Amino acid sequence: MSMEEFNTQICSCQKCRLWKGAKHVVPGEGPLGAKVMFVGQNPGADEDELGRPFVGRSGKYLTKTLAEYGIKREDVFITNIVKHVSPENRKPFDDEIRACLPYLIAQINFIKPKIIVLLGASAKETPRIDGIEYIQVIHPSAAMRFTKMREKFRCQINELAKRIQ
Ligand code: SF4
Repeated sequence: MSMEEFNTQICSCQKCRLWKGAKHVVPGEGPLGAKVMFVGQNPGADEDELGRPFVGRSGKYLTKTLAEYGIKREDVFITNIVKHVSPENRKPFDDEIRACLPYLIAQINFIKPKIIVLLGASAKETPRIDGIEYIQVIHPSAAMRFTKMREKFRCQINELAKRIQ
C-alpha cells in the first residue's frame, strides 16, 4: 500500500467518536525516509481547518525553532497520536488513542525514522519499537508561553539537531 492509499483509509475512518466534530482528517506530513518523526497530541482548530499538522501558532513556533537549529520542517515527518481534532481541544481519551494507534504504528513502519520526538504528555502513548530512539520534549505551546520551558525546549531541539548531523 502507498502512503496516499494509506491516507485515504484514514480519511474515511470512523473508529472513534472524534471524526464527528472534525472538518478534516489530519494524517500528518513529511517525506518517506525522514530521519526524525514528531508526534503530538491531536490536531487543533487550525489543523482541522487545513487538514495539515502543526500549522497553528505552536506549529509555527516549532517550525521556526527547528529552522534556527538547522532542521528543515520539510525534512521531518509530523503527525499526532490521534488524527482528528478533539472537542474544545481536550486531551484525547484512552479509547480514542487506542483506536487510532494502529495508524501511527503503520506510519512509523512507512517512515522508518531513527528518532521519534514526543511532543507533550499524550504522545508518551506512542508505541516503542526496537531500533528507534525516543526523545520527549516540551510541547511548543508550553515553550511559547513560559520562559523557563522555552529555554529548555530550545536546548532539547539543539540536542536533537546535534544527533542528526
Ligand atoms: S481519531 Fe483516529 S481512530 Fe478516531 S476517527 Fe479519527 S482517524 Fe479514526
